[in-house]
Amino acid sequence: MKPYRMLPHRVSPSQAGQKSFMSLARFLRRAMIVRALRDESEFRSGQPGRYILIVPPTLKPRTLTDAATRVLLECKPDLENLYDYDVDVVDAETPSRWFRELPVRLVDTPRYILMTDNLQIIPHKSRLGFDAVLQVQPPTPAHWRAALKACLGLTANNAEIDRISQLPMDLVALATGRRGSVTEIINDVEAAIAEDNLAEDQPTERPPSRQPRTMTLEELAGYGPAKTWGLDLAADLAAWKEGTLDWADVDRGVLLSGPPGTGKTTFAAALAATCDAQLIAASVARWQAAGHLGELLKAMRHDFAEARKQAPSILFIDEFDSIGDRARFGDQHASYSIQVVNGLLECIDGLDDREGVIIVGACNMSDGIDPALLRSGRLDRQIAIPLPDEDARQAILRVHQPDQLDAEILERVAAATDGWTGADIEALCRRARRHARKARRTVALDDFLSELPEEVAVPDELVEVMAIHEAGHAVVASVLGRGVEAVHISRTVRRDQSRLGGHVTLKSQPLKRRSRDNYLDEIAILMAGIAAETLYFGDHADGAGALHGSDLQMATDLATLMEASLGFGPSLVYHDAQDPAALDRLRCSDPTLKKRVDTILQSSLDKATDLVAANREAIEAIASHLIRFGSMNEPEVKRRVSGQQNDVGQASETQTATAA
Ligand code: ADP
Repeated sequence: MKPYRMLPHRVSPSQAGQKSFMSLARFLRRAMIVRALRDESEFRSGQPGRYILIVPPTLKPRTLTDAATRVLLECKPDLENLYDYDVDVVDAETPSRWFRELPVRLVDTPRYILMTDNLQIIPHKSRLGFDAVLQVQPPTPAHWRAALKACLGLTANNAEIDRISQLPMDLVALATGRRGSVTEIINDVEAAIAEDNLAEDQPTERPPSRQPRTMTLEELAGYGPAKTWGLDLAADLAAWKEGTLDWADVDRGVLLSGPPGTGKTTFAAALAATCDAQLIAASVARWQAAGHLGELLKAMRHDFAEARKQAPSILFIDEFDSIGDRARFGDQHASYSIQVVNGLLECIDGLDDREGVIIVGACNMSDGIDPALLRSGRLDRQIAIPLPDEDARQAILRVHQPDQLDAEILERVAAATDGWTGADIEALCRRARRHARKARRTVALDDFLSELPEEVAVPDELVEVMAIHEAGHAVVASVLGRGVEAVHISRTVRRDQSRLGGHVTLKSQPLKRRSRDNYLDEIAILMAGIAAETLYFGDHADGAGALHGSDLQMATDLATLMEASLGFGPSLVYHDAQDPAALDRLRCSDPTLKKRVDTILQSSLDKATDLVAANREAIEAIASHLIRFGSMNEPEVKRRVSGQQNDVGQASETQTATAA
């Protein structure tokens, strides 16, 4: 099927504004588009802009093209003729040739909207030309209320709004003609649905979309152990296809957990591309949107059947945590929810007789998922996808802006985007490109910097705390024989960043035997920031904890690993918990382990405190250098630390001599 292309019909602004002639469906569709574009005020006032709009699963993208065109035209009349505009729809059938021609269309069409119900079908290269990917949300209760009033002159109470907003918009619009009240409309539509006459028109019946082979796992960064798992799986699948590996030896699936925007969907698509398998994109929320229990189970079974039919395939199930845990369901919906979980278990187990289907579940938090779903042979592998670290952020920048990024841009932008997700970085690249486009030049560092949140100066007293904190890490690391490559503090911070910018870069360690003492040294180095702050200021501030990647998080996890899987505690039992969430669960489920971890942390803090106290001179020298210059490199750190050590050595020799 060719992508739908709007004929460039023009509606005059005065026509577009005549809401009294708008049908209910049209009113709601326009409201949905306006809401999606609500932050793009320049675009809505007639300025150039190019957007991808992701349409909710309950609607067909094509039904929204008219509304999008209207919104495109609702701009200042004097600007209307300045810019050409267009709206296109793409779906799984859109040929790759069409995407190859897209750049030409984008150049010719400054005001452009591309609609789809699946972002994954749009190759990343094609996404480069757009300013943002925006989600179209279903109409809100306020939209329904306004539409009923403006188009039908009907007033609805809250209960009616609740009910009507659950119904397919087009069916409601169809039913409005002869009905005199909102309840009448709702009753008629619900009855029609119940009779199942219209079930086949439900959008969940559409075949799941496939994605073109764009990015592979090798090209992606920031996925940690998930990438290793995916590459191993790809090798196993290849061996299975060749007949050299039994299906019984291939992993059945994985559950990815991580904040929205960390690239879980992208991972599934890349995994499919790497394994040369079909991607079947499903989502628990989409199944739930199908309607009552029967419809939900039908939609779920449909996706599993599709995955079996298209094997080898990756069945991606988004929002996996919405499925719930049977042990936690309250009385009210228990029976419904239990049947949903049981239905999913049946579907997963049903794959046993059909080789070639791998399930990739994605969720924000893996807690609260029925343990039966995570049992061996089902989604028994769970991997957390953390927020990308600085190296990963550089790699993600290279993915989304492959050209024109020199080392300075990469380093400065990656350093300024601490705490950002891959999606945030992708959006930043788009904004930087738009900025460069407006200035009619290729992307430069300034385009990125101007799109970053404002930079503010860190108050002097905080700079001092940061300097002492980082000097503490550096000195303790150096005294314990861990090479310090550099120490750095930043005198400015971006408005969106919750943590002040200071860090110590340790030298990478050569391969060597690592004993319990090495791990205890690592933990003492992590605790040294707290130790130094406490020594100089009487207590420590919140910068050492609270967040993923903080000193306390890393020290706590390292201590947990020592006790729970490295055999460095009283027990030799191995627990398979590697990522922070799994380690945290382990601690919560075992109070004795938690106590032992705390003991390690306390004694490491004592050790760090002793070292900090014994090296005050070095700490003060490094801190005052950091306050003046912002950073210190390896030879300078070494010089300050060995200077103090020598002084200490000489002093004790003198004392010994005097005593003698
Ligand atoms: P999630 O499923 O975790 O919410 P998505 O996979 O939908 O996240 O990612 C949203 C956007 O962010 C995608 O367009 C993707 O290109 C980008 N993105 C996120 N993480 C990464 C990454 N590690 N590398 C490249 N792009 C990423």
